[in-house]
Amino acid sequence: MRVIERIREDRVTVSCEMFPPKKESLLDNYKELAVRLAALGPSYLSCTYGAAGGTSDYTVELTDTINRQGIPAIAHLTCVSSTKEKVQTVLAELKARGIENILALRGDIPEHAGFPLPNQYHHAVELIREIKEAGDFCIGGACYPEGHPEAANMEEDLGHLKEKVEAGCEYLTTQMFFDNDIFYNFMFKALKKGIDVPVVPGIMPVTTASQVRRSAALTGSMIPPKFLRIVDCFGDRPEAMKQAGIAYATDQIIDLIANGVRHVHIYSMNRPDVAGAIMDNLSDIFVRG
Ligand code: FAD
Repeated sequence: MRVIERIREDRVTVSCEMFPPKKESLLDNYKELAVRLAALGPSYLSCTYGAAGGTSDYTVELTDTINRQGIPAIAHLTCVSSTKEKVQTVLAELKARGIENILALRGDIPEHAGFPLPNQYHHAVELIREIKEAGDFCIGGACYPEGHPEAANMEEDLGHLKEKVEAGCEYLTTQMFFDNDIFYNFMFKALKKGIDVPVVPGIMPVTTASQVRRSAALTGSMIPPKFLRIVDCFGDRPEAMKQAGIAYATDQIIDLIANGVRHVHIYSMNRPDVAGAIMDNLSDIFVRG
């Protein structure tokens, strides 16, 4: 099933995300994880491509495992450290396995010299155009409510975002944010720019003090004083911090839904316990599956 059909449904739904392992020896454990995340009843489940410490080698296989659980699966695909031949190979593999949904990304530019590769990819929009040509995939893209860290300003970033939509992005998923007003403000600006595809807010449950620093450094997301006070108070008590992080993410999601959002993506980071706790908190608010 194309995830855009899910996202457009007029009911409150939640999706989740996982990342692949670093080593093949862990693949079976991660397949088990995919099954456990799917059993929570998300409206779809996505698998990252080489993000969060995983490698890209197992994304297709894990996405296939998710598909087999009977829920729509999204394979992330990045391009900036790939060749065009590699991308075509992955697209052929996705097609062969009947995987219809791709989140098309540039990826972070590797720090060592030589990237972007000559005559290869510079931006996600180039990948989106190639996927569009390669077959009937449902294509999503990334957006940044606080602006992408490399963009000179929001106006420029939104201009490039619009190009991605015009190239064939059917929906967008946001980078994590910890203050919903940032998202509402972004939505106003995006709509004004003529970006009218569905935008799915991505919520990251931060459950350890070290994760707060890592997430902020990695994404440039602003951590509001309210959340910093929570970390100050509970950061050195792991179980209390986990509970507080789940409550904070739940609160963000409830506020989004109260403001008319119908679909929320949880950056569940291979934690069925965390994603499950949030879903339990929302059990009378959203529809599973
Ligand atoms: P782009 O859309 O190419 O934008 C990157 C920058 O270039 C922006 O500043 C933009 O304004 C600018 N730009 C865009 N087009 C042009 C143009 N034509 N000319 C000039 N400038 C331009 N990373 C992974 O490695 N694996 C993953 O699985 C993964 N999943 C993600 C999922 C989501 C929902 C999000 C939000 C991010 C994810 N990332 C992942 C991180 C992502 O790869 C990085 O944030 C990366 O730096 C940008 O990717 P992008 O697709 O947004 O790039």
